[in-house]
Amino acid sequence: MKRKTIKNIQTLNGVGIHTGQNCSITFKPTTQGYISFIRTDIANSEPIIALAQNVSSTLRGTNIANKNAEVHTIEHVLSAANGLGITDLIIEMDGPEPPIMDGSSLPYAKAMLEGELNEIDEIAEILPLNNEISFAEGDITYTAKPCEEFKITFVYERKGHPLVAHQEYTFTLTPEDYLREIAPARTFGFEEEIAYLQANGLAKGGNLENCVVIKKDGFSVPLRFDNEMVRHKILDLIGDLKLTGKVLGPMHITCHFGGHKTNVAFAKKLTEQI
Ligand SMILES: [Zn+2]
Repeated sequence: MKRKTIKNIQTLNGVGIHTGQNCSITFKPTTQGYISFIRTDIANSEPIIALAQNVSSTLRGTNIANKNAEVHTIEHVLSAANGLGITDLIIEMDGPEPPIMDGSSLPYAKAMLEGELNEIDEIAEILPLNNEISFAEGDITYTAKPCEEFKITFVYERKGHPLVAHQEYTFTLTPEDYLREIAPARTFGFEEEIAYLQANGLAKGGNLENCVVIKKDGFSVPLRFDNEMVRHKILDLIGDLKLTGKVLGPMHITCHFGGHKTNVAFAKKLTEQI
């Protein structure tokens, strides 16, 4: 598999879901060999490479930082890049957090496709899996087993909830299926958590256009898939796994309950197994 970037610069604008700040995000072609973010609103700021070792926080999103700059909530943008097989990309931002758009990764993926994917004449660095590995933290578990293709099984549970008690989905990654089955799945939150999030300075940019709010008796907006929640969890995991800095080889990853903190820990574990 060859490395991939885009041909033409693409820009999106909007508000960040947690900071509530406006931000313009620009995707630029490169052959640097990795994905990096740069804060254009901070003087002399250095690029921040999308790697697990640069993660600075995983509270309701994945943030990465270097000594003078931080970018928040990068997982949906990275998911779009990973889903489309993009290995080389410069992502410029004039604020701390990408615009949340509609809460899914589809607007980013569409922008990248509009920028025209462009193969680089270099072989992508593949992260192979030789033996089964697993990782657990409390009730959260991950396993990766050798397989003929790259696929993820995710089990999402909210025990006792009348609408989303259990969702399970298996997804085999191809760019076409990513665009159709995963990219449209939106960010979600529970009605009872919104006040807590906002009291803690989070979800300031959340609204009915970019987040599915789950109530006891219904959803704030019509769902795009019956199991949109578990599909979004897979979207997030595909984004966080890009922090390995490599293209994941054929393997079957199974995850129960995972979130950003454990996704990043698992990305590190996958990187260290070789
Ligand atoms: Zn997400």
